[in-house]
Amino acid sequence: MNNISVRFCVGCGYLCDEIHPEGGQPLWIDGHTYVMKYGVHWSDLDRRDDTCPDCARVFAIAQHGAHPDAPRTATTA
Ligand SMILES: [Zn+2]
Repeated sequence: MNNISVRFCVGCGYLCDEIHPEGGQPLWIDGHTYVMKYGVHWSDLDRRDDTCPDCARVFAIAQHGAHPDAPRTATTA
């Protein structure tokens, strides 16, 4: 049984690809892409709750009292 320690984003459910990330830096990809890329099974993954950069930004906004579902300044497409 393999135990692959992988960071799991509690916000969007993506996994952090730290094994062979493109561009040399940790890349957050969806779980299906991850298991297909490495040929592993969900049961092999030892997921550790974490937060990807995008969700960390959302959580930071939420903690400051703003509503992430109702952004007042929507500048992103
Ligand atoms: Zn995320």
